[in-house]
Amino acid sequence: MAAYLEGFDGTCRYPGCNRPATACQKDHRINHADGGPTTPANLACLCQHHHNVKTDGRAFYVMDPHTRDIIWLFEDGTWTATEPSGPLAPKNKNWVQTFAQTMTAHRARAYEEAQELMRQQKTTPREEE
Ligand SMILES: [Zn+2]
Repeated sequence: MAAYLEGFDGTCRYPGCNRPATACQKDHRINHADGGPTTPANLACLCQHHHNVKTDGRAFYVMDPHTRDIIWLFEDGTWTATEPSGPLAPKNKNWVQTFAQTMTAHRARAYEEAQELMRQQKTTPREEE
């Protein structure tokens, strides 16, 4: 389970922290003593410092159990979102595709970008007109 969490999270999940997940603690989002299960949906990689910030109540988070996107809530009422950055994270899962799938997706993206450019040119008045 630690390898899964580290591969998914990549780094400490606190906003802006780049400490490698392999050097992080596995935080029970809902404390084990309060009934929080030891499952990936309730665990996130936090470095010692940011684990302390959370334990002290200066920050709390909610996490999507499938994408592992996290919304951080801070004691001053502000919030921010972080995404997992490890090789298992949805945005980094290129290795799951075959080369043909990668090329098909690349062509579809290029086509969409070209279509968008054409739409912009049609709606943007030209200066020389
Ligand atoms: Zn950290």
